[in-house]
Amino acid sequence: PYDVLIVGGGPAGAAAAVYAARKGIRTGIAAERFGGQVNDTMGIENFISVTETTGPKFAAAMQAHVKAYNVNIMNSQRADKLIPAAQAGGLIEVQLANGGSLKSKTVILSTGARWRNVNVPGEQEYKNKGVAYCPHCDGPLYKGRRVGVIGGGNSGVEAAIDLAGIVEHVTLIEFDTQLRADAVLVTKLQSLPNTTVIVNAQTTEITGDGQKMNGLTFKDRASSEEHHLEMAGVFVQIGLVPNTEWLKGTLELSKHGEIVVDAKGATSLPGVFAAGDATTVPFKQIIIAAGDGAKGALSAFDYLMRLPVA
Ligand code: FAD
Repeated sequence: PYDVLIVGGGPAGAAAAVYAARKGIRTGIAAERFGGQVNDTMGIENFISVTETTGPKFAAAMQAHVKAYNVNIMNSQRADKLIPAAQAGGLIEVQLANGGSLKSKTVILSTGARWRNVNVPGEQEYKNKGVAYCPHCDGPLYKGRRVGVIGGGNSGVEAAIDLAGIVEHVTLIEFDTQLRADAVLVTKLQSLPNTTVIVNAQTTEITGDGQKMNGLTFKDRASSEEHHLEMAGVFVQIGLVPNTEWLKGTLELSKHGEIVVDAKGATSLPGVFAAGDATTVPFKQIIIAAGDGAKGALSAFDYLMRLPVA
């Protein structure tokens, strides 16, 4: 059995693996796709000390860093069940979709999250070529341009306020007849001169020239008329879904499905820790997930130290 078994190989899992292995304890990492969301990222410009890199380069560097240590890397492995220890301090089991099973004294869950897509023509084609999901990451790329935001909940309205300070103009498009964000955010958005809000509007297509997106088509749900807006980018803000479906009923999840963690990354199950986008930690970013992974590994080590001598 492992001392520390990490499930998920994004920035959180990779950092946890390095921190655990450096303690000289038996460390394994099982991931469906090593690298995680970073694989789908074009440019990364906000990881401190790395002025500029690409997602695939960053993912390869993370993997090389983990490989420099004695870590058992199990790539292309999907976990589908977590079985808590039978007694306090006992072994925790992680069952894999391929029928295999892994046992460990501690487990760090770092299965990340995925952005909900609008699922309209053009979205996949222009992903990273105008279609974006993270205003903190890609906002500065649209300095002085016109952009859109799809979604009028808190994240959509926050994104529109944030972007309004960088870009020329922001159009926020909401499907419902009114914005669903907190009133204080809506008031703030309405006070900004370079923003427009369109409600009761269904995005039907993201248009482009084959290379880059150049606009968005929406249907006015009251009149059924279609309209086209020219814009250089659109931020899809209709939800971030944690990859925790497989944990339902095993440990405490928030109403959004995030793994509830305390300041040390401990979950509601003894010996099970969690880190990164899959958890309740605020702000989903690479540097935050990596820091969280380090914290989870140190907490797991602390837990192991305190286990009674067998
Ligand atoms: P993830 O990166 O999501 O990794 C999750 C890992 O768990 C993966 O290895 C996955 O395969 C694995 N996994 C999932 N389910 C299972 C399972 N059941 N069993 C086994 N393995 C599983 N952040 C920035 O800081 N800067 C940026 O510029 C930036 N740009 C971004 C651009 C895009 C397009 C996207 C989508 C995100 C961007 N982000 C950016 C956000 C950043 O990528 C995430 O915050 C970060 O990757 C979260 O790390 P994580 O390790 O928690 O999860």
